[in-house]
Amino acid sequence: MLTAQTEQNQRVAASDAQRGMPYFCPSCREQVILKRGTRMMAHFAHRPNSNCRPFSESESQKHLTGKWQLAAYFGRKHVELEPYLQLLAQRPDLLVKREAHQLAVEYQCSPISAGKLRQRNQGYHAYGLEVIWILGEAYLQTITSVRHAEKWLQYSDKLGWYLIFWETRQQCLIVWHHLTIDGLGGLQGWARTSTGNQVGKRTPKTLASVQKLIQRRIQMGLHYKNAKWLKLQQFCYEHQRLLQAIPPVCYQFTNAEPLVCESPIIWAALMTVLLSEVPVGSLIRQLDLEKWAAKISTLFDGAQLIQCTTQQLANSWGRQLQRYADLLEQHGILKELAKKSWQLIASPY
Ligand SMILES: [Zn+2]
Repeated sequence: MLTAQTEQNQRVAASDAQRGMPYFCPSCREQVILKRGTRMMAHFAHRPNSNCRPFSESESQKHLTGKWQLAAYFGRKHVELEPYLQLLAQRPDLLVKREAHQLAVEYQCSPISAGKLRQRNQGYHAYGLEVIWILGEAYLQTITSVRHAEKWLQYSDKLGWYLIFWETRQQCLIVWHHLTIDGLGGLQGWARTSTGNQVGKRTPKTLASVQKLIQRRIQMGLHYKNAKWLKLQQFCYEHQRLLQAIPPVCYQFTNAEPLVCESPIIWAALMTVLLSEVPVGSLIRQLDLEKWAAKISTLFDGAQLIQCTTQQLANSWGRQLQRYADLLEQHGILKELAKKSWQLIASPY
């Protein structure tokens, strides 16, 4: 931790603390040790074997440094460092105060379970506090798919699906925004730094290579009798189809919403299995799409989007189904009759 209390309960930053003076943890009141050297960022630490809960997680140098830099980034005079919220027995890394508005900032460098994350968010919300999670730079390398990103993804109209990182060397925020899922289930989108640089994130793979990789994934999954792939194949059998026989149009289903921990092409292929059971000429309504999506959802791991509201989740599903219908329309399979109702005019197979 970067701050501790004096005997008179005054908050002191480790960089301003005096050697030889006693300092105490604001939560457990144990005396803490001032650590200030040339190689380390000044900080306080509990004695070994301390049971202190909110402050017990041993902090890395990266975490201490990033937290200090973030306080400067948000403006030192608007920021309370490591405020201990007695009522919650919780301690955000920063509390940013601007006029009547308060924002808890959590700077996460180490792994954290979805359960613990949800619990912390609930705590802040019960306290009437908004919270944002800023990820340590190590996450820049490790977040590549929905599975890695699901816990952290936030949504806004301005940024779409986004993630925020802090980079300690350049001392800037990196925002990945308008994130979508490519054909293979990887994250794609844009990256922008708080210093004003705009960088594209990844170049998409060619259709031919995506096709090859998806077929290979299915082949391997079935060959090694992987439970997930067997379940998907079983579903296709029950509907007189083969998992490998993906309609060509489905390979174009990319830029998907981060709703399912699987390639959106596979998702679209299963939707199309159900669509193809309807005779050509039939009327397809939004409700049918929703019904099919619900039916196949049991075959996939849904993303745990714990940072978003129920409404945001519902909207995301709405966009996903709309995108699917648009794609079929572009390929002459559906014809739009009215808003959210279509006619099936050709078989997708
Ligand atoms: Zn303590």
